[in-house]
Formats: sequence, structure tokens, C-alpha cells
Amino acid sequence: MKSKAKSIIMSAGEYITDMIGLIYPKICMACDRPLLKHEETLCTFCIYSLPKTSFDTQNDNPVSRLFWGKTEIEGAASYFHFEKGGHVQQLIHRFKYKGFKEIGFEVGKHYGTELKNAAPYNTSDIIVPVPLHKSKQRKRGYNQSEFFAAGLSQAMKIPTDFTSLYRAKATDTQTRKSRFERFENVESIFQLKENHPLSGKHILLVDDVVTTGSTLEACCHILKEAGNKVSLVTMAYAK
Ligand SMILES: [Zn+2]
Repeated sequence: MKSKAKSIIMSAGEYITDMIGLIYPKICMACDRPLLKHEETLCTFCIYSLPKTSFDTQNDNPVSRLFWGKTEIEGAASYFHFEKGGHVQQLIHRFKYKGFKEIGFEVGKHYGTELKNAAPYNTSDIIVPVPLHKSKQRKRGYNQSEFFAAGLSQAMKIPTDFTSLYRAKATDTQTRKSRFERFENVESIFQLKENHPLSGKHILLVDDVVTTGSTLEACCHILKEAGNKVSLVTMAYAK
């Protein structure tokens, strides 16, 4: 009797959820199509059609080349191509600026399923997201790269570390500086906490978008100085 009552309440709940869904359908965060019941964040069409780079299958690729002659890395790849006005731009914009942090988790799970079979990424010991300065994180409410890291972590069964690496300076005035000054500026921005456990590890460093690679490069330097090997992946690659 009790369980029957419970099941009636449950189905009433489902009914209400469906009704709400009719009025406010959840949409695909990349293309705005209404999502089907089994779809989450991205529609099936986008999962197959968003422009993937396949960089994880090529050791020599446009992302790994960004680091040539600057820092030695095990591997570097991005999931999507970032195109102006494209669906990936829409997706990243909502992820970074509109509060849809679940995008990072969902994309991370999809990419992680592929990276699980891709060397050198699948031999990483720990996943570390590029940190935001705490003032910026407070303003935004979250560090988007942590959500991407969490999705990758779930799919790849590799733990995360969100606390050891931190951003000591908020400055990111990259304009009107020479390459050397810019490098110096970026270099001292990231630090490792005292008594951190990151040493002798293969770290998978992750970020949302890579363009010049200077932020990732600065993180690589400090992680390598502490005696680690580094591979890196981002959600998107913008030329
Ligand atoms: Zn879509």
C-alpha cells in the first residue's frame, strides 16, 4: 500500500517534470536544439558533428607545436576546433561566462572516453586544471577548468588535484609587451603550495581553450621544476 502511494507520487513528479519540459525544454548548449529525454547538455547530433581535432592521435600537431623550443611535454591535444561564430564558440561562451559549468563536466566525460585509449594521456597519474586567481574565481563563482578536469577524471579513472597549483597574481595584461616581458610576467603568476604532493608524477594539465599556449607553458615550467612530466589537453584549440 505504502509503496503504491509512493509510486503514484513518483509518477506525478515525473508528469510535472515532463510538463515543465514542454514549457521550458532543455536545449543543446551548442546548437540550441531541444534535448531529448536521454540527452544531457549536448544533443546527439552535436556529439557526432562538432569539429573534433583528432590531435590526440598525432604526436606532432598544431597544439604540441606551440611548445616547440619552449618546454618539453609528453603530449598536447585539444578536443574541438574553435571557430568564430561556430557551435563550439557558443558552447565555450556559455561554459565560461554564462554559468553553465555542467558543460565542462559533460565535454570532459566525452573526451575522457577517447583519451582513455590514447597515449601518453592515459598514463597520467593526476589531472591538474589551470587555476584562476582567487579574485577572478570569486567573481565568476567557479573555475571552469575544474569541471572539465572532473569529467575527464570520471571517464579516465585518474584522480584530480585542484589545490596544489595556484595562481599567485591576477595580472594578465598581455598586450603591449615584448615576448620576453610577457613570458616573465606569466612565469611568476603560478606557484605550488608548500608540501604539495606533485613530484615525480606524470601530470595531465587541462584548460578550456588554448590559443598561444603561454598560460599552459608557465604552468608546465613550475610543474616540471618540481620534478614532474607533463601532458596537456584543452577543450578547444583557437588559431
Ligand atoms: Zn546540438
